[in-house]
Amino acid sequence: MEFEVIIIGGSYAGLQAGMTLGRALRKVLIIDSGNPCNAQTPHSHNFLTRDGETPAAITKVALEQLKAYNTVQLLHGKAVKGEKYDKGFSVTTEAGETFTAKKLIITTGIKDLMPEIPGVAACWGISVIHCPYCHGYEVAKQPTGILGNGEGGFETVKLIQHWTKDLTLFTNGPCSLTDEMVAQVKKKNINIIETPVKAIIHDKGYLSAVELADGTKVPLKAVYARLPFIQHSDIPAQLGCELTESGHIKVADFGKTSVEGVYAAGDNCSMLRGVPNAVAAGLAAAAFLNREMIWDEFDA
Ligand SMILES: Cc1cc2nc3c(=O)[nH]c(=O)nc-3n(C[C@H](O)[C@H](O)[C@H](O)COP(=O)(O)OP(=O)(O)OC[C@H]3O[C@@H](n4cnc5c(N)ncnc54)[C@H](O)[C@@H]3O)c2cc1C
Repeated sequence: MEFEVIIIGGSYAGLQAGMTLGRALRKVLIIDSGNPCNAQTPHSHNFLTRDGETPAAITKVALEQLKAYNTVQLLHGKAVKGEKYDKGFSVTTEAGETFTAKKLIITTGIKDLMPEIPGVAACWGISVIHCPYCHGYEVAKQPTGILGNGEGGFETVKLIQHWTKDLTLFTNGPCSLTDEMVAQVKKKNINIIETPVKAIIHDKGYLSAVELADGTKVPLKAVYARLPFIQHSDIPAQLGCELTESGHIKVADFGKTSVEGVYAAGDNCSMLRGVPNAVAAGLAAAAFLNREMIWDEFDA
């Protein structure tokens, strides 16, 4: 089946891009595999009008509102292949269906790679958190850990001590902060623990302590962790989209990737990770892609 635009990934960035293009009278297909990165978090914060709701509740409203647009079609499935051909792009799903479109928007997000520490995955987004703007208010002034090392760990300490002074940095092995950084951390009465972390002790994702390899248990309310990630989908790589050093899709203003006719939006191309940012980026990519299409059609 042929569309004007296919959007791969139908979470915040993709659904917003779909609404913007649908309202711009474009025939759009959104393909989504239903696995957003924040699925486990019980309360999504800091998105005006939706503060504290579950991710699923926010998506439910978005899907209901999109149903009003007969220009937009939604398909539950995983896109596994993306190819450029003379008239545009073809996208094939895991179920074997192939769709074509003149343009693509990729809003597939990123995949966090969990460390091999028991408890981290179960607590992810609940009490092991990635972002103070999303979850910091709820655990402000509470005993808090930071799982990190080196410059990244130091930066996280500097940021998070604004929310709580009761901080412990777990380097999970030999500390790789510079002597200068260690001195600054110690000056703020922040403890650095190098003993490897054995496990996060928790009940249904709510942690109560970090257990060290020597059996010590450090009681805490929350742990911040900046985890490594990969692109959630390899379609950007299949199409030849350039990546940045950090592993994000390289984009110019408004989400234009290095491949002509392909835009990206949301977590897959931005370090500012948050629902409002993904929504704003989805709008911008859709509006500027549509502008590009109108200009081409006008000149033709
Ligand atoms: C644990 C956690 C908690 C968070 N809490 C908050 C919070 O409280 N407030 C806040 O503002 N932000 C929060 N964030 C950040 C926020 O969730 C992200 O910024 C936002 O989800 C990014 O939206 P996105 O549309 O770019 O990607 P995602 O929401 O990750 O969605 C990507 C979508 O693409 C789909 N997809 C991927 N590959 C394919 C494929 N090949 N074919 C089809 N579909 C595909 C996925 O299934 C998914 O539905 C949190 C993030 C995490 C990890």
